[in-house]
This record gives sequence, C-alpha cells and structure tokens, in this order.
Amino acid sequence: MTHVVTESCRGCRFTDCVTSCPVACFHVNEVRVYINPQVCIDCGACIPACPVRAIVEEFDLPEDQLHWMDINAKAAERYPVIRTKLPPLDGADERRRQLGF
Ligand code: SF4
Repeated sequence: MTHVVTESCRGCRFTDCVTSCPVACFHVNEVRVYINPQVCIDCGACIPACPVRAIVEEFDLPEDQLHWMDINAKAAERYPVIRTKLPPLDGADERRRQLGF
C-alpha cells in the first residue's frame, strides 16, 4: 500500500507534505512532487499537510485516478528526493483558488 500525489499538485508544489513525511519518500521535479511507493509507510501524515488535498491513499483513488500510482512510481525512480520545503511555484495561490481551496 502507498499514498499517491494526484493532479492537483501540478502548478502548486507547495511542498508542505515533505516536512511531514518521516521516511523521506517525496521526489520533486520542476512542476510537482511524487511519492515513492517502495518507501512510503502509509502513515497518512502528508494528507492534511497538502493545501490542495492532492495526496490520496491508494485504496481511496477513484478508478479514473488509478494511473497516478504508476506515474508516482516511475517518477520516483527518475527525480531526486526532496526533504525540505521549497517556495511554492509562481501562480500557486491562484491555482489553489481555482481548485477551490
Ligand atoms: Fe510519507 Fe507517510 Fe505520506 Fe507515505 S503516507 S508519503 S510515509 S507522510
């Protein structure tokens, strides 16, 4: 089992989640973060940390969102680990408003 970062992270990348994670399983690129399913211990601490509720437990993913499991797993192999918070992306607050948060 794992937790998964879904579409809402793209364009925000607030990265509050990475400081809540006890096992450093977040990876980052220029637009968003991903969770490494090999490292995640399913503690759930990152879910309330995300300002746009982008993180979901694997079993709570709707059917049309299941592809995010594969995207997170592959991206975790490709991008570096992030352990500290970064400034949000330009436009992140506007995107958060568009997402209803
Ligand atoms: Fe890290 Fe826990 Fe979130 Fe998994 S569920 S990514 S271990 S904070």
